[in-house]
Amino acid sequence: MCGVFGIRAPGRDVARLAYFGLHALQHRGQESAGIAVSDAARLTALRDLGLVTQVFDERNLSGLRGQLAIGHTRYSTTGANAWANVQPLLHHGRARTVAIAHNGNLVNVERLRAASGARLGSTSDSEVLAALIANDERPLAEAVAATMELLEGAASVVGLADGKLFAFRDAHGFRPLVLGRLDDDPVVSSESCALDLVGAEIEREVKPGELVIADGDGVRATQALAPAARGALCIFEFFYLARPDTRLAGVEVHGARVRMGARLADEAPVDADLVLPIPDSGTPAAIGFARATGIPFSEGLIKNRYVGRTFIQPEQGMREQGIRMKFNPLAEVAGKRLVVVDDSIVRGSTTRQIVRMLFDAGAAEVHVRVSAPPVVGPCFYGIDLASEDEMIAAHTDVEGVREAIGATSLAYLSLEGLQAATRRPESALCRACLTREYPTDVPLDPRKHRFEPVRG
Ligand code: SF4
Repeated sequence: MCGVFGIRAPGRDVARLAYFGLHALQHRGQESAGIAVSDAARLTALRDLGLVTQVFDERNLSGLRGQLAIGHTRYSTTGANAWANVQPLLHHGRARTVAIAHNGNLVNVERLRAASGARLGSTSDSEVLAALIANDERPLAEAVAATMELLEGAASVVGLADGKLFAFRDAHGFRPLVLGRLDDDPVVSSESCALDLVGAEIEREVKPGELVIADGDGVRATQALAPAARGALCIFEFFYLARPDTRLAGVEVHGARVRMGARLADEAPVDADLVLPIPDSGTPAAIGFARATGIPFSEGLIKNRYVGRTFIQPEQGMREQGIRMKFNPLAEVAGKRLVVVDDSIVRGSTTRQIVRMLFDAGAAEVHVRVSAPPVVGPCFYGIDLASEDEMIAAHTDVEGVREAIGATSLAYLSLEGLQAATRRPESALCRACLTREYPTDVPLDPRKHRFEPVRG
């Protein structure tokens, strides 16, 4: 779960534009942030642990000058949350210096690390891409295309090298990547909401297997890899990860989530007094459920928005506050039959605490409705879901989950219902964590910290 952003705009403050772009992508990763800038000769990066606003200030931003910039917000999936793994990652190779920002997870990273033969300074799976390109003495387009040939798994990448901006997507297109224009200047981003924020027009999606290079001669796009027989844009982006104002493959995420809620109301209706979302990603589906049934929508649960994850290391005495650090119920839930709409249940612990909190606040009934099917398998392509052992639905049926979370009733949206709401065909989406049918070979050792040194 990361966000990437890239721009080539001579004469503009590209670092500041990347900074604004990263603000719109902060929801994709809150562990670290970074920006690399370049002109024809130099490449400079500034990166650190923390939120975009914690890493950058007026002083350090104004020191980042160039014609090209890339940026990254990170939530780690391979490699620990340590400074060495913060992106953009720079690699100085035989042929060139490369800066890279990567969203996704590679499934053949052991083989790539061996093929690169390079000494890597990080334990993430992204530097190996930079190393392969940096050590390939062919022209940049050929070096990047050769690296794309080698990788398996998920990679939506932006990079800088040889005074050029490049961007590409793996052959399955697991993670989104969209190309836009700020006047005539090219901009690429994980999500279209970042293009909106900097005032760029959406041009199109970068296609699976496509390589885009921007330099003084303009923007050139080539189909460097044949796209996979089946597309595999992550369906989790539609119901959970992407920002609601983003357009994924031309479909506005908010609208898709409202349709999920409406379909859920059709599939699993219930007599109730109020529909409540679990904010924020459950909100559009709750709106859809309320509209379809005529049951009034209520905010019901107020989210403490400014308790950042970084600071949630509660004192012993605060621990019992648990979920109240994040949510607080409104008095109007007392005595009511509630429908609580969430986007997904993975471990089930948060849902269980919310159900208990609503009963403690006096709710008469708590009917949980989930706008996606049960999550039953891990993700190898860049979403840190949990291991299968920790997934509440992996080893028990719907009634078992209902009992574990303590709800009056529980229903999930069907896979067909979810698929229909995205308005994308089955052949265009990855749904593997819901079906256990993976579109690629999966790694033998999917542990996140597999390249960390063993400490005794
Ligand atoms: S396995 Fe699930 S979370 Fe991972 S890419 Fe596929 S749909 Fe997305």
